[in-house]
Amino acid sequence: MDLIIRRAVLAHTHPAGHPSVDIGIEGGRIAAVEPHLAAAAREEIDAAGALVSAPFVDAHFHMDATLSYGLPRVNTSGTLLEGIALWGELKPQLTQEALIERALQYCDWAVARGLLAIRSHVDVCDGRLLAVEALLEVKRRVAPYLDLQLVAFPQDGVLRSPGAFDNLKRAIAMGVDVVGGIPHFERTMADGAESVRLLCEFAAEKGLRVDMHCDESDDPLSRHIETLAAQTHRLGLHGRVAGSHLTSMHSMDNYYVSKLIPLMRESGVAAIANPLINITLQGRSDTYPKRRGMTRVPELMAAGVTVAFGHDCVMDPWYSFGSGDMLEVAHMGLHVAQMTGTDASRACFDAVTVNAASILGLEDYGVAPGCAANLVVLDARDPIEAIRLRAARLAVVSRGRVVSRQPAQRAALALAGRPESVDFRLHR
Ligand SMILES: [Zn+2]
Repeated sequence: MDLIIRRAVLAHTHPAGHPSVDIGIEGGRIAAVEPHLAAAAREEIDAAGALVSAPFVDAHFHMDATLSYGLPRVNTSGTLLEGIALWGELKPQLTQEALIERALQYCDWAVARGLLAIRSHVDVCDGRLLAVEALLEVKRRVAPYLDLQLVAFPQDGVLRSPGAFDNLKRAIAMGVDVVGGIPHFERTMADGAESVRLLCEFAAEKGLRVDMHCDESDDPLSRHIETLAAQTHRLGLHGRVAGSHLTSMHSMDNYYVSKLIPLMRESGVAAIANPLINITLQGRSDTYPKRRGMTRVPELMAAGVTVAFGHDCVMDPWYSFGSGDMLEVAHMGLHVAQMTGTDASRACFDAVTVNAASILGLEDYGVAPGCAANLVVLDARDPIEAIRLRAARLAVVSRGRVVSRQPAQRAALALAGRPESVDFRLHR
């Protein structure tokens, strides 16, 4: 074996009667998951009862904008509209070199936090497609250790922005993976529906996945998700389509939603909520009561819809916080959705791991023989504790190679109920 992680506690499957397992890795793949591996390895990690999970997966991000906070100026109001205006000011000033440098820096942050797969939207409304070229280059460079999936995203509307559909098609031809859209930003509801039809037909023709910014609005009558589900069903795209944000669902009439959620389930459309961004940008013009704007996560999950949480933004025109930590995202999602029950809390961990992996279509994701050897060792005993502590990533393994190590956080260990980590002489 190349690497063995001993005494690992897993998030899901566990052999009955064994508190932990050894994970054997060979040739970049998981070769064995057993209570006690007799084999030796060139390198060993003793997890000592810590949680070992498949890596975090971010189902929704904007890598072309990340780490640009303050360029060319800061978003003083902190609103979505000033953010969009700021992005418009920044776009003509972007250079490929700076964009690549910022994206690679973000990928370093991601790796350190055990985030090894990211679906990033890339704006295709600038005819130069400079951001597309830059992120395709980043995708090539990080491929040895991180899965970067790109979505062709017409930020200003595929119908509303002149030339956007042609740009989107060019981006796909250049190697972008997924078809994006933003129906609620088109001029009318009818144009929004038409954009969904055109984009889904294009995806069906090319055999691609679809992920649209959909109904990122507080308007309860923004119902493009219904059209997205219907087109998915009509074109047989089941399991390949995701609606991102879906914040209007928060404000929708309950009777209407009782029809909509089963329709989403029937068409296999997944939902991606972005808790950090939705909680800060939605309901912004409300007085009180103030809507929180996140989509109906527990209700969607209960109906069997696949739901993931995305980070969406880190240090960009829309959001000046964040660090690539999907446990912070899960922590916020759990609070906003009031998912504090045991099963619900674990489901929030799934929303940044297995559910997101399924939306990206990542093959060989998981902790089982035959899966890719992508793993994160967390300084926590189970997924709920990992979310509570935003646990330190003690070790991150990508393609069978240890790519990041971090010492246990003393304070976190003490909080976790392991006071042996505290130096008691401090008190005397
Ligand atoms: Zn987004």
